[in-house]
Amino acid sequence: MNAMKIPAALLPSDGRFGSGPAKIRPEAVAELASEGSRLLGTSHRQPPVKDLVRRVRTGLMDLFSAPDGYTVVLGNGGAAAFWDVAAFSLIIKRSSHGTFGEFSTKFAKTVAAAPHLEDPAVASVRAGSVILPEPVPDADTYAWAHNETSTGATAPVHRIGGADPEALVVIDGTSAAGGIRFNLNQTDVYFFAPQKCLGSDGGIWLAFLSPAAVERVELLASDRWIPDILSLKMAFDHSMQNTTLNTPAIATLFLLEQQVRWLNDNGGLGFAAERCLSSARILYSWAEQNPATTPFVAEPGLRSPVVGTIDFRPEIEAARIAATLRAAGIVDVEPYRTLGRNQLRVGMFPNVDPGDVAALCQCIDWVVERMDN
Ligand SMILES: *Cc1c(COP(=O)(O)O)cnc(C)c1O
Repeated sequence: MNAMKIPAALLPSDGRFGSGPAKIRPEAVAELASEGSRLLGTSHRQPPVKDLVRRVRTGLMDLFSAPDGYTVVLGNGGAAAFWDVAAFSLIIKRSSHGTFGEFSTKFAKTVAAAPHLEDPAVASVRAGSVILPEPVPDADTYAWAHNETSTGATAPVHRIGGADPEALVVIDGTSAAGGIRFNLNQTDVYFFAPQKCLGSDGGIWLAFLSPAAVERVELLASDRWIPDILSLKMAFDHSMQNTTLNTPAIATLFLLEQQVRWLNDNGGLGFAAERCLSSARILYSWAEQNPATTPFVAEPGLRSPVVGTIDFRPEIEAARIAATLRAAGIVDVEPYRTLGRNQLRVGMFPNVDPGDVAALCQCIDWVVERMDN
């Protein structure tokens, strides 16, 4: 089976379709090797790296058209670490979550495990759909994921009707940030890591904070013990100086700055979102017309423009397709580990050329035609 060799003429120009870590532009890597090599191995407390952090922060403010008073904070540990940051530095007593896949569920579980908090309210729905948190009278924080990377479903981002107006909206935007348009002023905290749409490596988290979020952070910092690494107050204070609590990965920051600049120079979030939508239209219309496949997310309005999940008829083994693609250099289209479906998952972040998504579809067709089903 794996001796099956996809003709070179069908192959995409770049075979990286992962949902994170995801394709990094070769131009950014080349820039890292030339310009970036002057920063690598130098102090993050000195002006050159501090200036890099400043450009990341102001570039993100531009990219997301951040409203007045919002600010960008960053720290080490990646997006999953931010779930613990939220448990310590954002939630006063009780949160309300919408869970519709692995990432939004893990966020709620992290909070549920925190001994200093009450059990969160959790609204859940089966994988492939979306549910927002329910308004509950004692909730001081509302949380969900903008894009559920494990299932390929995208949720709306807006304030929850019937919630306490003082409650914060905290959104895990990790796989959406930089690829899906939304209004930042509908959130108080929008956090993400840069290894998905933002074309960099993992290991850091970034978060937009509203004025109300900053107030909350100050309140809790003076009120409870918080480990330094999970203290949003510490991260905030350092970020205002364009530094981090401890040493960041300078290469990650450099690649992030390259990507943010590339997106802003080409038209910002509108450009990025359109590029992802072009890829998504190609993938979903192919999957709808193909007798072998169906889009996993049944409701077209919930289908993610950045992470596409495609089910195969049971007699066509998706894992074998993924293995054949991998042998040809097309990588990371395997489905999310725990979803357990006969499926392929395709990362369509802004760095992915829509033409390459079309080529991927052709390659899949080529493989399926030659499988002995
Ligand atoms: C990838 C992802 C995470 C985890 O990010 P890490 O940086 O690996 O911790 C969290 N939430 C969502 C929605 C993601 O897509």
